[in-house]
Amino acid sequence: MKLTKMLALVTTVAILSGCGGKAPAPGTVVPAPVQSGQSGAGSQSGSGGQAGTGSQSGTGNQSGTGSQSGTGGQSGTGGQTGTGSQSGTGGQAADKPGQTKRPIDNSPVVPNPNDITMMINKSVRLPDGYAPADLVEPKVRFIFSEKHEKRLMRQEAARALEQMFAAAEKDGVILAGVSGYRSYETQVWLFDYYVKQDGLEKARTYSAEPGHSEHQTGLTMDVSGSTGACAADTCFEGTPEAAWLAKRSAEFGFIVRYPKGKESVTGYTYEPWHMRYVGVAAAKEISGAGLTLEEWSSKKR
Ligand SMILES: [Zn+2]
Repeated sequence: MKLTKMLALVTTVAILSGCGGKAPAPGTVVPAPVQSGQSGAGSQSGSGGQAGTGSQSGTGNQSGTGSQSGTGGQSGTGGQTGTGSQSGTGGQAADKPGQTKRPIDNSPVVPNPNDITMMINKSVRLPDGYAPADLVEPKVRFIFSEKHEKRLMRQEAARALEQMFAAAEKDGVILAGVSGYRSYETQVWLFDYYVKQDGLEKARTYSAEPGHSEHQTGLTMDVSGSTGACAADTCFEGTPEAAWLAKRSAEFGFIVRYPKGKESVTGYTYEPWHMRYVGVAAAKEISGAGLTLEEWSSKKR
């Protein structure tokens, strides 16, 4: 995975993107987001030998990175000049100015972002800068120990997650949280990072654009077994945990948001770990009828 070798000042984000489709493998290590949306200009700079990258420098706030490459704040410039090791991809993107920037997003904004049954996807987005007002940390097991925004969910969803995990445990299935809330700023940083890395077109195939990630709604948690094995990875399919979630999650208001065989509807490949809270009534309708949130939402209209 191209990002697995990022060095210092990184944070492990189990899933990138909207958890969509070709998201990099679990445990993929990506650079820590900076607080503003401006994405680390020029990151990736050179420091060639560093297992691909080291730097991150450009981002300014990441300061410390200098130590890795000695390049210090010089930032971006290095990246553009090619530095062999990053291979073509980064360089190419940088050489095509038109493909290195996120275009203005003209897709429609969801009218009810705070509604627990709201639906966003690759075509419909959250309002710019949207953040839920009631984020809390569910008292459940996580596969990581650090404090991080990805522990958070909206209150109602968090309580439901706690109940769901407790019920699973009674059945001998130990679940753990992998990745929940992801802020708009984080997604901006992440997506822009990928664009720098791979160019806009390629980045779009595996990463959600800002405002389009379900993780920004605070209603989503990627779930794995307690060991974190196969967390947010295709090998989660077929595990007892995945089977339990598929069978029981609706009772607690959750759906498998990107079901198998519905890729053309959701825009994402099967993600048996990506649990979206919609409330018990909606979840039972959706799961019971084998629908996607898209299909259920359009029926309701
Ligand atoms: Zn996800």
